[in-house]
Amino acid sequence: MSQFAQSLSNGKLGRRELIKRFGISAVAASGLFGASKNAYAKSAPHVVVLGGGVGGSTFAKYLRFADSDVKITIIEQYPEYITCLRSNDVIVGYHTLDELTFNLDTVQSKYQVNVIIDKAIGADFDKKTVTTAKGQVIAYDKLVVSPGIDFKFEDYEGHSKELAETKIFHGYKAGPQTLALREQLLSVPKGGTAIIAPPQNPFRCPPGPYERASFFAEYFQKHNPTAKVIVLDPKDRFTKDGPFKKAWERLYGYQTDNSLIEWVSGSDGGRVLSVDGKNNSVETMAGTFKADMINLIPNQRAGKLAQILGLTDASGWCPIDRFTFESSLQKEVYVLGDSTIADAMPKSGYSANSQAKVCAQAVADTLRDRPLTKSVYANVCYSLAGDNYGVSIAAIYEVRDGLIQPKGKSEGVSPITDKPAQPILEAVYQKNWQREFVKDVFS
Ligand SMILES: Cc1cc2nc3c(=O)[nH]c(=O)nc-3n(C[C@H](O)[C@H](O)[C@H](O)COP(=O)(O)OP(=O)(O)OC[C@H]3O[C@@H](n4cnc5c(N)ncnc54)[C@H](O)[C@@H]3O)c2cc1C
Repeated sequence: MSQFAQSLSNGKLGRRELIKRFGISAVAASGLFGASKNAYAKSAPHVVVLGGGVGGSTFAKYLRFADSDVKITIIEQYPEYITCLRSNDVIVGYHTLDELTFNLDTVQSKYQVNVIIDKAIGADFDKKTVTTAKGQVIAYDKLVVSPGIDFKFEDYEGHSKELAETKIFHGYKAGPQTLALREQLLSVPKGGTAIIAPPQNPFRCPPGPYERASFFAEYFQKHNPTAKVIVLDPKDRFTKDGPFKKAWERLYGYQTDNSLIEWVSGSDGGRVLSVDGKNNSVETMAGTFKADMINLIPNQRAGKLAQILGLTDASGWCPIDRFTFESSLQKEVYVLGDSTIADAMPKSGYSANSQAKVCAQAVADTLRDRPLTKSVYANVCYSLAGDNYGVSIAAIYEVRDGLIQPKGKSEGVSPITDKPAQPILEAVYQKNWQREFVKDVFS
């Protein structure tokens, strides 16, 4: 723990020091960590958040908005967070990883959140404590867990974590994986082949593999026009498939003899059964495919931490109360983001951010013994089918008949029109949204 974080958690940082560091008023400073004359009196409740990615960071920030007195601690394993958002751009050179790298410094200083860089390895739900890899034991009143995803390498014969770290990269956690895919893409020889194998539903960022296939095709069109992308898909349909395929037709000759993208689909078609790292080949229901690079994105389940803590059910994901995101399996523990079973909500950053805001309000209301605020969620998934060609899907969600479902007719996908400006505008919206979104999460 940093000296500063330690001072905060010990309550040793004086009011004058707080004013100096945060530039906040004496009145605001007096409200930190239970020092004010509020319902918590001397000991403010402590909310501990495991995972400082999209869900965890948004939650901490918005809990501070909802309650100026509660103590908040984030335990995050890495000092820096690289967003998956726009990481497909890094593979083809439209962005750098540096542009996608954030940390929790602003969340810590601006919203008085104690940040501990350490790995959470267990919890004692009776004693209400969390244990970390460095041996810290941290007490909580409410625990929030947002650990992202884990991969099911065992679903493919011949695949392993080691192979995924050395040759058959997934690029579904941004960082070294992203750069490794970039290197492979740039090394595809003239007339070569790149395979992208998306996972079964449900998985993180449903449009991600198809945006990536589009970008690979765009890259080949510019730098290696006789090369080709083959998408080996276990599914017959994918999110936004209408506008994506229209874009592929318009941009990459989809379904012509010279198409830069081939889509082999379905459980008896593109479903990958086994991987051969030595020969760079995969066996599918439709036969064996050999390629110059294989980007297999494995089937997924809740982040390992959620599994270790016993927050997952037989599906591998975390069941939650749809109104609050409190775990159905453990009281006073909340789960957010990709790890959850959130019904119709896709596993996106936008969803994680929206769920975190609802959950922060629910935690604040519960701590103050207030009636719960109505739960309404939102998601917009913007994707690029080319650098200047956007497609999107959006919905507002409510809890209906016990499930999170699109509200009324709020759900919509980009229309396919003949107006050339329409996909260009969507690409502009996507770029602006991403810039503002990361501010909402990390600053
Ligand atoms: C290629 C790609 C493109 C995408 N593009 C978009 C997009 O355009 N729009 C969009 O909305 N979404 C997008 N997403 C999805 C988005 O990245 C995720 O849905 C989002 O990050 C989920 O948030 P989360 O909090 O559940 O998980 P994460 O953001 O992954 O956060 C999990 C955090 O928990 C930490 N953690 C895990 N275990 C521990 C532990 N034991 N101790 C401490 N810390 C731990 C991790 O280090 C990480 O910081 C994309 C994803 C991919 C792969």
